[in-house]
Amino acid sequence: MRLTRSSRHRSRIAAAAVSIAALVGFCLLVSPSLAHQLDPNPANDRELLGAKLDPVRYDGADGCVRREPKGMKALIRFMKRNTRKNVVYGTIRCDGSGVHETGRALDWMLDARIKADKRLAMTVINTWMADDKRGRANALARRMGVQMIIYRCRYWQAGDNGWNPYSDCSNPTAGHIDHVHIELTKPASKLETSFWRSSVGAEYTGKAGDGDGSSGGIGA
Ligand SMILES: [Zn+2]
Repeated sequence: MRLTRSSRHRSRIAAAAVSIAALVGFCLLVSPSLAHQLDPNPANDRELLGAKLDPVRYDGADGCVRREPKGMKALIRFMKRNTRKNVVYGTIRCDGSGVHETGRALDWMLDARIKADKRLAMTVINTWMADDKRGRANALARRMGVQMIIYRCRYWQAGDNGWNPYSDCSNPTAGHIDHVHIELTKPASKLETSFWRSSVGAEYTGKAGDGDGSSGGIGA
């Protein structure tokens, strides 16, 4: 089809509009600053901004416990207060399932195939992954001692620069599509990382009897 000068001009404007729309869409997908996060991100609290970031570490499984560590109770309290209470929070499972045995792993039953669940899960994950105002990557994850996250056939381990494909994506549970798997380091399980020691974290480390700490054999 031959284009007149004005229709060529119009098509150029249309092409430019499409490019701008694509660019905006791309930025929304990749820019952590525009992704959903808890507001404010606790990592930007003044006390924490001034505190040294906790070292990167990963603590593997080392036997079965009977009770959830203090840090896991505090993490569940944090999740319930900042997101939704009526979600299943599964922790200890002594069946050879790795870090779950230590009470330092949490299965947060938010199904990525359900839009509202996925959005909620990603809001918290993005908050953990975000830079703080001083540009320190994964600031809240480091401060809370989150050492591993698995969701939607991908995983992130402390120190990784972004997500990696997860080895088993054979079904929604194995691939962590129907739940988020979150692990804490040993110091975090004892409330010994900077977030839990700060006055922001102290809100979650008391002995509030709000039904925290359900355990169950769900997830992976
Ligand atoms: Zn799990």
